[in-house]
Amino acid sequence: MARDYYALLGVSKGASDSEIKRAYRKLARELHPDVNPDQQAQARFQEISVAYEVLSDPEKRRIVDLGGDPLESAGAPGNGFGGFGGLGDVFEAFFGGGSTSRGPVGRVRPGADSLLRMRLDLEECATGVTKQVTVDTAVLCDLCQGRGTHGKSTPTTCDTCGGRGEIQTVQRSLLGQVMTSRPCPVCGGVGEVILDPCNRCGGDGRVRARREISVKIPAGVGDGMRVRLAAQGEVGPGGGPAGDLYVEVHEQQHDTFVRDGDDLHCTISVPMVDAALGTSVAVDAILDGPIEVTIAAGTQPGSVTTLRGRGMPHLRSGVRGDLHAHIDVVVPSRLDHDDIELLRKLKEHRTRDTAEVRSTQSGSTGGGLFNRLRETFTGR
Ligand SMILES: [Zn+2]
Ligand SMILES: [Zn+2]
Repeated sequence: MARDYYALLGVSKGASDSEIKRAYRKLARELHPDVNPDQQAQARFQEISVAYEVLSDPEKRRIVDLGGDPLESAGAPGNGFGGFGGLGDVFEAFFGGGSTSRGPVGRVRPGADSLLRMRLDLEECATGVTKQVTVDTAVLCDLCQGRGTHGKSTPTTCDTCGGRGEIQTVQRSLLGQVMTSRPCPVCGGVGEVILDPCNRCGGDGRVRARREISVKIPAGVGDGMRVRLAAQGEVGPGGGPAGDLYVEVHEQQHDTFVRDGDDLHCTISVPMVDAALGTSVAVDAILDGPIEVTIAAGTQPGSVTTLRGRGMPHLRSGVRGDLHAHIDVVVPSRLDHDDIELLRKLKEHRTRDTAEVRSTQSGSTGGGLFNRLRETFTGR
């Protein structure tokens, strides 16, 4: 009797290619030996992989739909997986990883990368900085130099797997005999065992250690950027080459400036009278110290004065961005007797100045409400 490949994947006979694909993907995620070591799950995984292989091939699926079994004719009966070298390929096409172990893995393997976070203030981001940091990573075991063995002893071939690094099991299943292989649990897939391990590292060839290293952060870095320090990460198993260390910059908020790439923004509150008459205000700029910002006579609320080249240095070119000073005009809210007298005189003098009602959008020259709203939303 022909095997019911549709039932194995839990799809109907009329299922579309993408439904079949989805069903396989879902089941494979649950049953793959890497995630599910259960023996029955492994057998199931083989079955669904075969079912997918068949149903995703239009030619084979046609045979199934005609009531036949494409695998019966392809391979010898009772040895259903004889011609099935492609199992791993099906899986790899999906998940992009090697699903089947092939031979022993090396005992010496490259180490992992490490990540470290570093808080920097805006000034440090602007100037660049060199900081001492403490990193806690795996380092080479200095007692055995990564060999993992005690003294002059050497690793011996693993008895359990005979040095192959993997163990094969044959099971009976719906589809006949299923051959599964998994990494040897005794040697971890290496094919050899260390019977007399190093006292310090227990055979791993590496130990954890804290060490101080000096990290140079270049001028112009920004929040979230990572500086890579080659070969400063974890030493690998068996003393394998170290991974890289990444230092991720976390820029702290500045009291005055808001950063936008290489540009900086600040707000200058100018008293009404100064905005009308003109003045200059000292701004303590990053990298430049105090610089005078000229507020021209008649400056309107919401206007922006740009100081070219007073922003942050660009990370690569070093060319500096701009400093944008957003002008806020402050109307006095408390007036004493003399103030009122003076302002009344000014009003009598400026008979042309009258209130005016206009559209919020069309009349938005300078510091209209709409402009300011827009500035708020675009962050400018
Ligand atoms: Zn083994
Ligand atoms: Zn050691």
